[in-house]
Amino acid sequence: MIRILLFGPQGAGKGTIGAMMVDKYGIPLIGTGQMLRDAIKEETELGKTAKGYMDKGNLVPAELVAGIVNERVQKENKGYILDGFPRNLEQAEMFDQMDDVDYIIVFEVPKDMSLYRLSGRRTCKECGAVYNVNPDGFPHPKEEGRCDKCGGELIQRDDDKPEAIEQRLKTYQRETKPILERYKHKVFTLDATLPVDQIFEKTTEIIDKKEARK
Ligand code: AMP
Repeated sequence: MIRILLFGPQGAGKGTIGAMMVDKYGIPLIGTGQMLRDAIKEETELGKTAKGYMDKGNLVPAELVAGIVNERVQKENKGYILDGFPRNLEQAEMFDQMDDVDYIIVFEVPKDMSLYRLSGRRTCKECGAVYNVNPDGFPHPKEEGRCDKCGGELIQRDDDKPEAIEQRLKTYQRETKPILERYKHKVFTLDATLPVDQIFEKTTEIIDKKEARK
């Protein structure tokens, strides 16, 4: 059982590295942002309520997210990679009631790099796959504006637009980062300005070294 939480500001590469870890460890990536975006697409009650908060770059009320996270983590008996929860003190307290954690990986990037990476981020309207169209972006779509996987149109998320990004980065610094203090001895901080393959290598090194000692 390996339970990993990913932390870091928007554009740090959590989703990208998380997806690479899924292949290596054979455990699922639970991304709360993606789950909420799916709910919006499916026009569920949760999606309808969440949209207004998300478009402005604000956090959705904790009780709405905690329910869907709890359902998933209880189900995954080999472990999971959780991206996007907990995001503030209230959620950290809720998470304490749900499960324990083995690794907290924190991806650190300066604000200008977050903004640069998010400006190039594009998401497939159909399947949610994520690309980056900056010259050094990863992964780059093979055909401009089209998803490699399903051919869907690539769009910029409403909350990847400048005003919402500012708000999301502020929320991370003000509400999310301080909760790391609670998990001190399980926290591993990485320089996420490095190329993706190097960040991935360092992440797996941390986990593999400790798992080998178990
Ligand atoms: P993300 O893709 O993780 O940046 O999440 C996108 C948006 O979804 C955030 O800006 C929030 O509005 C919402 N969201 C995702 N996870 C949470 C959470 N744990 N608590 C509250 N809102 C969340």
